[in-house]
Amino acid sequence: MRGKYCCSGVVGEPTVQVMEEAGEKILFELLRALKIPVHYATTGKKLSYLDRLTARLTYAVRVWCERISELGLKTQRDCSPYEREIQHITGLSAAFVQQARDKALWMWAQYREAHKDWERELSRAKPGTKWYKKLLKREPAEPCTSPKSSLKKIPTRFDTRTGTIEVSNLKISPLVIRISTLKRGEKLTILLNPSKWHLEMLARAAELRGFELIKRGKKYFVHLLCKYFVRAQPVHAVRGVDLGVRRAIASVKLPKHPRNFSLLRYDDKWLRIRELDDRIAHLQRLRKWNVLKKLRHKRRHVAEDYDRKLAKEFAAGTENEIVVIGDPQQIRYHKYRGDGDKRGRKILQHWSYSRLADTIIEKLKERGIIGIRFNEWGTSSECHKCGGKLKAKGRRVVCTNCGMQYDREFNSCVRVVQKASTYLKHKTRAALKRSRKLAGAIDELARTIDDSGLEPWMKMEAHLLVGG
Ligand SMILES: [Zn+2]
Repeated sequence: MRGKYCCSGVVGEPTVQVMEEAGEKILFELLRALKIPVHYATTGKKLSYLDRLTARLTYAVRVWCERISELGLKTQRDCSPYEREIQHITGLSAAFVQQARDKALWMWAQYREAHKDWERELSRAKPGTKWYKKLLKREPAEPCTSPKSSLKKIPTRFDTRTGTIEVSNLKISPLVIRISTLKRGEKLTILLNPSKWHLEMLARAAELRGFELIKRGKKYFVHLLCKYFVRAQPVHAVRGVDLGVRRAIASVKLPKHPRNFSLLRYDDKWLRIRELDDRIAHLQRLRKWNVLKKLRHKRRHVAEDYDRKLAKEFAAGTENEIVVIGDPQQIRYHKYRGDGDKRGRKILQHWSYSRLADTIIEKLKERGIIGIRFNEWGTSSECHKCGGKLKAKGRRVVCTNCGMQYDREFNSCVRVVQKASTYLKHKTRAALKRSRKLAGAIDELARTIDDSGLEPWMKMEAHLLVGG
């Protein structure tokens, strides 16, 4: 690694190397944020400068959000007549104002999408019911309007115009960022404290897409957005995944084979979490606030660590396949206080399936495998052979229609794959691309299958999954 890295510009060497190596093979684009702390030896003066700059940028995003709300602006072009005015109000340069605009537009796009989902859900509910009232309270709020959000800083993306990442020959820090200041022509150099792993990842990156300055507690971090290329694995099979509380990841690889059913469990996650909870409760009774303060994030960190390790283990066991993960999101959304199922709700609330599913998808993508989330509504109560209703019998289930008996998770996994293929078959590719959970994955998947040298019958199955 040498020379100067330029944000959002292509870093010459690695890209060429990756492309040549891959030849005609299909490449996935992988975006990843490297979270590098700002050096601990950064002076108070510089830190207070960062405070002022990020506060000013947050203010600019807020002003943009107001304009967007008042005038219904949707695109960058809609916004351009107001740029001058906002430059004047905030005292920021044109580039900074445009970066704030992009953030505000992105926040609004997210909001509009969430609102559309909510409207759809509301139109399905019966007015006057408990569920309907619950939904009314859940209307997504416009960005930057809730009183809580006024305390938070909103990070904006720095690009070549406002900040660069440079390799330095300083002994104390091998990596620095240089950012524009509020004064014209003046630049500020901030030392970073990257780990060896950060530097390795950076050297492998094909492209740098800018960075964000983020404050966590009292510390600043630079989130470097890196683009990587990963070689796609040819698809030979489809795997259905069922996430659970006790059996963390159950999966079935199709075509069926007696040994294709696999289970992964958290060895001692729940035990460890309960231990921590007990300790925290004990300290609360003793009113040891200082110790409690130190433990504040421990529970989350422990849980995240278990999830990451498990996702990694699962991804390591996959090869040449598509993975469909049953997503219980809708189920949790429909569980609300007062629905009569207190215990079930509690289990769902404490279970981090969403984080686990996302981590799995990320780890799969690093290996060149596509994972998608699919609403698993009904999969655990329908027979995968005949579609009949299932009755629970301990850990197993019995079909009331055909009388077959299966392992509960095994049935769910197969059913997820079946449902995913029929659902996707009836959707156009454009509609799928619009769907948030499959964004971008569909085209890559279709290309992967076409060039995969897959057996014809399996190709059919796989194409059903992407609607090709
Ligand atoms: Zn059946």
